Parts: sequence; C-alpha cells; structure tokens
Amino acid sequence: MLRVVFLGPPGSGKGSQAKYVIDEHGVDHISTGELLRSAVNEGTSLGNQIADIMQQGGLVPDQIVLQLISDYLDSSDLSKGFLFDGFPRNSIQAEQLQVILAERNVPLSFVLHLQVDPTAVVKRLSGRRNCSNCGRIYNIYFDPPQVEGQCDDCGSAGELFQRADDNEASIRNRLDVYESETAPLLEFYENAELLVTVDASGDLAEVAESVRQVILTELAKT
Ligand SMILES: [Zn+2]
Repeated sequence: MLRVVFLGPPGSGKGSQAKYVIDEHGVDHISTGELLRSAVNEGTSLGNQIADIMQQGGLVPDQIVLQLISDYLDSSDLSKGFLFDGFPRNSIQAEQLQVILAERNVPLSFVLHLQVDPTAVVKRLSGRRNCSNCGRIYNIYFDPPQVEGQCDDCGSAGELFQRADDNEASIRNRLDVYESETAPLLEFYENAELLVTVDASGDLAEVAESVRQVILTELAKT
C-alpha cells in the first residue's frame, strides 16, 4: 500500500509526478489547499474560522490544517493509500502528521524527495506558460502543447502566458525560501529513515521512470 509524501522545490515537476502516481496507483490525493477550500465552501464551523483567517490575510494555523487532515482521513477509504502533495511544509507539521498517521495505523511508506539543480529549475520555470483559457500549465522546453499555440486540453488557440513571478530573479528567490524552509523537514524524514531522494533534473518521462522504480523498490520492502 502506497502512503507517501511528495517533496520538491518549485519547478521540480512535483505536481506532474504526483499526478502520474495518483493515476497509476489509484491513491487518494491529499491536498491541503483543497481541504481548506472545501471546508470554507461547506461552511462548517472550522470552515468559517478558516474563511475569517483568510479574509484577514492570515496564515491558517497548523492546528487547523492538521484537524482538517485528521477529519479527512477519518472519512476516507484508507485502504487505497494516499499521497500528500504540498504538506507538510515544516518539521513541526511533519512530526504531527506522523502522530496522526500512527493513530490510524497508516504510517508513511516513504517520503519522495525530488531533487533538482537550481540552474535546471530556473530554465524549467522560465519556460512555463499557462493557458489563458483553462489554466493548464505547459513548458516550452519540456512539455509544450502538441500543436504550437493551441491548448491540448481546451483546444483554445488563445494566448499561453507567462506568470509574472516566473522570471529568473523571482524564481531564485522562491528556491532560496523553499530551501531554508524544507532543509529541516528533509532532515526530519532522513532521521526517520523515510527519505528517498530522486534526481529530478531530467525530463518528465525520465523522472517518472525513476519515481516508478523507487515505488516498486519501496513497496517490495513492505
Ligand atoms: Zn486550455
């Protein structure tokens, strides 16, 4: 059973790799962003608290996010396995997640760390383009649309645009922030003997193959 956390800097292709794994293994995708949004939409008392915090521009406290995750796990079919993407972000959250998972007897199988060299990330992110119609993300270097200038998903021949923060200086800044935030997190999982690092500098297909191999190896251990 695959129960995994995906970690990787912006531009590591984490979202794409996570999607492959979810499609291939049928695991549940646990996104804290989505949990927060749906709590707000459902208007639960926790959801209303979150809406208030967000309206004031604040960060939702760890305790609330962890509560949402606990509730979600309690209402889910855990036998499918799951993949956390975008959570935890720091070692305190990681520690608490370990407790929540242990209580439900669903410990992590491993933590996948997609490692990329910063120069490659800069190239990757500066090649990123969004479909102005449906929002799908392409990369002019690594993952271009099949027909140039036309979105594969929605067929729109509208503009593929570059987000303002996909320029080199802002990318380097995001990488620095990511590194300082996640270094302790990596150390935490390393000490817990859960961390598996994959070189994610190649193209999406190459990295997907490495990820597939890691998953096979890790699942064979259990
Ligand atoms: Zn589109």
